[in-house]
Amino acid sequence: MIQTTLINGAWLDGRRQNILIENGRFKSIGVPDDTGADKRIDAEGMAIMPAFYNTHTHSPMNLLRGYADDMPLKRWLNEYIWPFEAKMTPEDMVSGSRMAMDEMMRTGTVGFYDMYFHVDGTARLAAKAGMRAIVAETFFSHNIGSIDDYADTMRGWNSQTDGKTLLAVGPHAIYTNDAESLKKAAGIARDLGSLITIHISETKEEVDNCLKATGMTPVNYLDSLGFLGPDVMAAHCVWLNRQELDLMAERGVTIAHCPCSNMKLGSGRFPYREAIASGVRITLATDGCASNNNLDMREEMKFAALLSKVDGDVECLPAGMVLEWATRNGAEAFGIDGGVIAEGKAADCLLIDMNDFRMQPCHNLIANWVYAASSDIINTVICDGRVIFNRQRQCTE
Ligand SMILES: [Zn+2]
Repeated sequence: MIQTTLINGAWLDGRRQNILIENGRFKSIGVPDDTGADKRIDAEGMAIMPAFYNTHTHSPMNLLRGYADDMPLKRWLNEYIWPFEAKMTPEDMVSGSRMAMDEMMRTGTVGFYDMYFHVDGTARLAAKAGMRAIVAETFFSHNIGSIDDYADTMRGWNSQTDGKTLLAVGPHAIYTNDAESLKKAAGIARDLGSLITIHISETKEEVDNCLKATGMTPVNYLDSLGFLGPDVMAAHCVWLNRQELDLMAERGVTIAHCPCSNMKLGSGRFPYREAIASGVRITLATDGCASNNNLDMREEMKFAALLSKVDGDVECLPAGMVLEWATRNGAEAFGIDGGVIAEGKAADCLLIDMNDFRMQPCHNLIANWVYAASSDIINTVICDGRVIFNRQRQCTE
């Protein structure tokens, strides 16, 4: 049955417009009031914006928010995060994911790329919530033996789902997986046509150790194993040189840039100008809640834009581009023809309150949204044509 929704009078391209959604897509923009849609959303005083795709997170880590702060990555992982995680049950993980999804929906995220353990629970929750999710089971050298069992689970899930939630493979990093383990993980992903994600060059120490052990930088090392391809989502990528960025662009790899996490763990500054010049696809992500400490993608846009300017390069990442990283590029990475408000595209969008004091005056809507606003001004979140959050009801639907 055809489902239609009319968004009535939303601010778009400098004027109020009616937008008709049909079966999860923007059917037409600028339609009259009397379209006879099944559902009508009054968007008086609101602007329509593309929704967010958070391309790297660890949703169960919402349980670790504020558990360990103000220390470097190695100590943070070894002394706090990994011992805590060792005590978490699959039920705990589902509880953390539930908190994370509620937070993401309230802050305008319709799709997230997760990396954790016992991920089928998270995938089921996301499907129930009507969110888009790519959920990757994490592998290390010590548990890579279990990947064949996981491959069966993944094959079963991915063949039955409508494509909105997918299971994927997530070898943690090059310093927690040996070459055999990395090749095995990539081989399984390629055999099953699934997506694959990994942390790459998050710290300088990771690069130095890789150079010492292999004579290659992490990206060149992974490429020598046949790991890199268009199915790879590479998180962090702080310590990459131009040659590595060019290689990633050539292989079709997507970067998940996590500015808050990189700053909080003191990992370093993403090479903005070089990455943009290379043409590699860059998306935006929060990382997990223990290293951020929230999942607010609007904040992440502001932090990315400001971090790019901190050394004086104030022009390389303007507000419009960082918005594209958080929306259109994320949609592309999810394999969705969306991330923009245009006819024929996936109906993933936000309605935001233009009357809020942070949106006035409105010389430039995108600048206000990136630099001045707060996610509190998000009134409605629509994923695949369906309302998944509405502020009046103060609930996720
Ligand atoms: Zn991570």
